[in-house]
Order: sequence, then structure tokens, then C-alpha cells
Amino acid sequence: MERIAVLLCAGHAARMGFNKLTQPLAGKTAIERSMDALIAGGAEKLVFVVSPDTEKTVSLLACPVAHTVIPGGDTRGASVRAGLEAAAILADNPKDALAAIHDAARCMVKPETVKACFDSAASKGSGIAAVAVVDTVFRTEGDTLTLVPRDGLWRMQTPQTFQLQKILSAYRGGNVSATDDVSIYREAGYSPVFVPAGEGNFKLTTQADWLRAERELTRYGTGFDTHCLAEGRKLILGGVEIPFEKGLLGHSDADVLAHAIMDALLGAAALPDIGHLFPDKDPAFEGADSMELMERVVMLLREKGFRPAQIDATIIAQRPKMAPHIDAMRENIARVCGIGVDMVGLKATTTEGMNDEGRGLCISASAIATVI
Ligand code: MG
Repeated sequence: MERIAVLLCAGHAARMGFNKLTQPLAGKTAIERSMDALIAGGAEKLVFVVSPDTEKTVSLLACPVAHTVIPGGDTRGASVRAGLEAAAILADNPKDALAAIHDAARCMVKPETVKACFDSAASKGSGIAAVAVVDTVFRTEGDTLTLVPRDGLWRMQTPQTFQLQKILSAYRGGNVSATDDVSIYREAGYSPVFVPAGEGNFKLTTQADWLRAERELTRYGTGFDTHCLAEGRKLILGGVEIPFEKGLLGHSDADVLAHAIMDALLGAAALPDIGHLFPDKDPAFEGADSMELMERVVMLLREKGFRPAQIDATIIAQRPKMAPHIDAMRENIARVCGIGVDMVGLKATTTEGMNDEGRGLCISASAIATVI
């Protein structure tokens, strides 16, 4: 049976103060994350149901399967119905197709959940992602408190997956003001089958949900760099010029700390390193201010939907003493990365006279960065 997904991207998103469907979350929008999970979970075709706010984001997606984009209605029900009608047109054989209806805001959905819902619909007629209620539930009516037995209580999620023909006819004959597809399906006389999905299949509804998704999607990168010490050069670390008899040798200003941090940021986003972005053969970068290069790295991250979240770095140098300059470096790094100074950790260590750093031949730096 052909597997089609109807991805609802038409909801209003006023609650968060920004559009939760089009704002990148660690490099991808909720719409793109949902699309990827649906396809990885077996969707062969996709119907995007959009609003004027989400239309552009959807039009820029590189959707690898056959798809169609249609405008949503005034209510969720009207949007679903429009999506199902479009799915019937997109299907090779609408009588032998499955439709998974999914809210784009539920973008943490796992491909396994999508697949389990499709499989259940193929064998049992429907597959509704749902989670059993484990908390104690009370109903309040005025001052009266009633314990609601939680046995058999389920919270509905998406995907909600059906045989296309049945759910479409249920919507055509049903009350589209219902807030979910299961109610419409039941009204039409069918029995839904629940597919247990986890609490991890949560929907981006509140600011707390957004922060939870950011925490789960945080990415990490590391960076390391070494430059030789030489006479007649300035010593610049973290954008701070440090008085010393030698400086670091390099094509740019050789700010080894900035270089390690840039590579950590780029690594976290799986982007090419600074040697690739700012080649030392390119005269444009001769004597370049590495903090300006860091600004460009942060801009590149933004273009890809990422932003720096936290940085921690270590300078490895026998001399000079770094302590008097650490806070100025942290402030520079925080400003360029657009994060609080409290999100930039910076330490310095000697190697107790050992290694090339200890012999005063070079200075090295290592860094870890997280991006969201
Ligand atoms: Mg370097």
C-alpha cells in the first residue's frame, strides 16, 4: 500500500513570539525535521498543508519525494480535510493508500514511530501515536475534586495514520471542528488502534518545549591549533594584544585561541574547517583580524540555522602570564559569538617546561563549543 504523509504546517504560532515552524532549531526547522522523519519512516509521498507564514519555508525545502503544497483552512479539521483531498489526487491508487496525518510542530518524532503507525494502519486499519497516562489525574469542578482512574487513559499524538479512503470519507461526512482525527474516525464508526509512542514525541507548544528541543538537539564540536612563536610579531590571543617579546607566526594575525574556537564552532555544525574557509594561500587573509573571521564563522552558522551556545577553551603556553588578559578575551569572544560572558570558559596552562609549548617554541589552544 502506498504510504502518503499529510504534514500540517498551517497552525498559528503566536504563543512563542516567533514562528516555531520556520525558526531553525539546531540547523533545521520543525517542518524540515518532521519531513525528514516522515520520509525516513516510510512516507513515499508528502502533502504539505501551509499557511502564508510557512509557505516560503516549505517552498525552499529540498523534498526528495513526490509532493504537493496546498493552503490550509481556517481550522485544523479543514486543513486536514484539504490535505487528505490532495493526498487522494497525489496517490497512484487512492483506494489502496495509507495516510499519516502529522503536526509539523511535533518535530521530534522518530522514524520508528512513523513506521510503526504506517505498519499498524496497513495491518489493522489505523495506527495512532499515543502515550499512556502515567501521572495521577484529578478533575476539578468548583471545590470538588474527583480522582480519574488513569488505567486506559491515553494522550493523543501524531502521526495519526489511516487507510486514506476511510479517513477521507470520515472527514467528508464529519464535523471538521473536532481537534483530532481520531474523533472524526470514531464518529464514522471505526475503532482506532493506538501505537505507543514515547514522551519524547512531544509537540513544540510552549517556550519550555522549545528549550527542551534545543537541549536535545545541542551539538558539540572541538578545535585545536598551534602556532610558532617568532620575533617581530604581535602576540594576539582572543583578540587581545598581549605585551611580549615574541608573537605568533602565521598568515593571519595567528590568533591561535580564536582559530581553535572557530574550528570548534564549525565542527559542531559539521561545516568545513577554517583552513578551508580562509585558506592561507589567499592574500585576502594576510594579516587578517581573526576575531573578524570569527564574526564570519558565526554568520555562516546563522545561515545554516545554528547559533553558538557555549564555549570552553584552554591556552597552552609557558609564557607570558595569561591571567591578566583572560577576562578581556572572554568578553571579545562572547561579543562576537552573541552569547553571555558566562557562556565562555577560558583557562591557561603551562606544560611545566615540557613539549614545544614549554620550551617557548609555540603556543597552542584547544576548545569545545556547543551550537543549537
Ligand atoms: Mg591557526
